[in-house]
Amino acid sequence: MPGAVARRSPGDPLSHAYLSSDACRLRPSACPGLLRIVPALDGGICRVKLARGELSAAQALAIADAIDEHACGIADITNRANLQLRGVKRGHEEPLIAALLHAGLGPSGPQDATHAFADDVRNVMVSPTAGRDANALIDTSTLADDILARLQGDARFAALSPKFALLLDGGERLAMLDHPHDIWLSAMRDPKCDDVLFAFGLAGCPPVAEKHAGAVAAVAASDAAALTHALVHTFLDLAAPEHSRMRDLLAVHSVEDVLTHVESKSGIALLRDASIERWRRAPGDPSLRLGAHTQRDTRRSHVGGQPVLGRMNSETLRGLARLVAHNDGATLRMTPWQSVMLSDIDTTKVASTLQALEALGLACNAQNPLTRVIACAGSAGCAKSLADTKADAMKLAACLPADAQVHLSGCPRSCAAAHRAPYTLLAVAPGRYDLYHTRDPRDPTGFGRCLARGLTIDEAAGMLSRAALPPITPFDEPSDA
Ligand code: SF4
Repeated sequence: MPGAVARRSPGDPLSHAYLSSDACRLRPSACPGLLRIVPALDGGICRVKLARGELSAAQALAIADAIDEHACGIADITNRANLQLRGVKRGHEEPLIAALLHAGLGPSGPQDATHAFADDVRNVMVSPTAGRDANALIDTSTLADDILARLQGDARFAALSPKFALLLDGGERLAMLDHPHDIWLSAMRDPKCDDVLFAFGLAGCPPVAEKHAGAVAAVAASDAAALTHALVHTFLDLAAPEHSRMRDLLAVHSVEDVLTHVESKSGIALLRDASIERWRRAPGDPSLRLGAHTQRDTRRSHVGGQPVLGRMNSETLRGLARLVAHNDGATLRMTPWQSVMLSDIDTTKVASTLQALEALGLACNAQNPLTRVIACAGSAGCAKSLADTKADAMKLAACLPADAQVHLSGCPRSCAAAHRAPYTLLAVAPGRYDLYHTRDPRDPTGFGRCLARGLTIDEAAGMLSRAALPPITPFDEPSDA
């Protein structure tokens, strides 16, 4: 592995951050990575990016051992289907990184000067049911691997922000469609024939409702990997040093500029007509992440459950590894809902697998309020937090009305959710929150309309229970705008 240095300078927000020398030289950043462990109140944070959200049984065991030995035994699932290891002990950074790399959890390729940035660019999200859903238009697995390999293999992409992210959507029913991505591609049926195309857009999400911005163009499925490569190069060609995300670029360049540049650079024929602009994707169904559902191969099912507040300890990881090992051909995935999915379970073993997940403490039924509450690290782990969001979320879950979905955030940064939850409790003091309501999970302007300020958890639960706050569906037209 690359040599390593500990950066310590008083007052620096990265004080005590541990960076491999390559990570330090190529891109100073406050964003955690496998090779960049950043400090928090409860110790270092190491983010492990999982290709397609997948984790083998051996890797789950390796992480369980590593967090017991080098951290506080906790792994959080992130809203990008990655893992975040918390509480890394001072002085244990180098052996932790070595253990994770040994388990094959780092970027592919040689561990040379390109290694550090190759970890940062591994931000390609696919559905956890990619390749398993009979309703999908295409299996994105191979394409996702191709795109990931291109991202990791191009040294120029070291200039990208570690947050620069892509969505590759095959049209699965279980799909996270509300997280804005710098580049999104979504499978669509060619209206002129039956071929599969990829519609794509910049700095946003695939359109579902009429009001959403449509795709900017589409390409043949065979051009999708080359398109993403050309789009990333185009971003770097046109972006000024202060532009780290696609939305920054679009503030100074038109979409037309970007597409013209892509076409001239790549020679890819972009399909642009009214039918592509009008195209809307079918809404996703997040409830499919929980419980058991038959796959495209009807002899197999995927079975999912939600660890409490997306947090697993080493014993949970070992239990999941055992389940993978005992189910021949099964695959373990993390999901962007901070849940866990076991795919390719023989249908005869579905009931026992569900029982096993529940025995590990995972909530497998959408009626369980713990599947409808998310919370950031809170004051137990983050110095920015004004409240102990995790503890308060548990308190709220005990009295949460049916159907209410709530996000508790210790500050406006909203680490636990990249989209807007229907209800957000934003901490203002220990045990006190402002309550927000939004009908649009893509609302970029904040958490929605403020309904009340400075509520205790009991008061918030009372407000959520009132008839004046009915359950909402994500794409209702706002009545309170
Ligand atoms: S949302 Fe704010 S308080 Fe919560 S973990 Fe992120 S930075 Fe910390």
